[in-house]
Amino acid sequence: MQTERLRRVPQEPEAWSAAARELTDARRAAPLFPAVRVCPLLGFLDRERKQVGCLGHPKVTGGKDLRDCGVYRSSVCETFTCPSFGWLSDGQARLVLAACADWYLYGLVITDVEFVRGCMRLLEWELAGPARPEQMLEQPDVLAAVRRLFALKETAPRRDPKAAVFGRFTRDTEGEPVPRMLDYMKLEMRAAPEDDVVLCLGYTPDNALELLASRELVRSHVKAVARAMTAWPK
Ligand code: SF4
Repeated sequence: MQTERLRRVPQEPEAWSAAARELTDARRAAPLFPAVRVCPLLGFLDRERKQVGCLGHPKVTGGKDLRDCGVYRSSVCETFTCPSFGWLSDGQARLVLAACADWYLYGLVITDVEFVRGCMRLLEWELAGPARPEQMLEQPDVLAAVRRLFALKETAPRRDPKAAVFGRFTRDTEGEPVPRMLDYMKLEMRAAPEDDVVLCLGYTPDNALELLASRELVRSHVKAVARAMTAWPK
């Protein structure tokens, strides 16, 4: 919708600001976290709709900087780097890029540092040694297994679609995102290594059986990556 609308707007700040307001007002649902700004200038950069980026960037408009019409000032857009940029290693970021089939899954995974780190930590426990992302992405079978693990962000079953959570986060009373914890007392369970990833997948287990099933889902996918890695020719 954003791409189509902005393509038809003359490249003038007033027209772009008006279109940006209109697009924001037309959203079907309010954002889960009002404090997290969702920019209406984000859109597809190519006709094939494979790459998402800033439609107001001078490289996209052919020279005009229209980023002031988005949710931040252009100077902020120019200098901002998201937490994943600093917190993920280069190898982890490359693995995410190679393993995620499309921009949507890539966006879900690259922004969730705890999910990526949690998956790598489980893998290292399973291997009883280091997992080197640079080597993993060179092995097609390993990459395919990592793709299935990361794709749990989209495919994991039996999550509650009505739960007001985004991965590991829920809203506080002011609508700010706050990290979630599992209530082990209520569940009558002890913590397990898979629980970080279970939370990042957006599970809100109500009882021990639900928690055990979600842990098993994560564990089986991590084991599949480890199996593919140990099948490498030595
Ligand atoms: S770079 Fe700035 S203007 Fe462009 S999509 Fe991102 S937040 Fe919006």
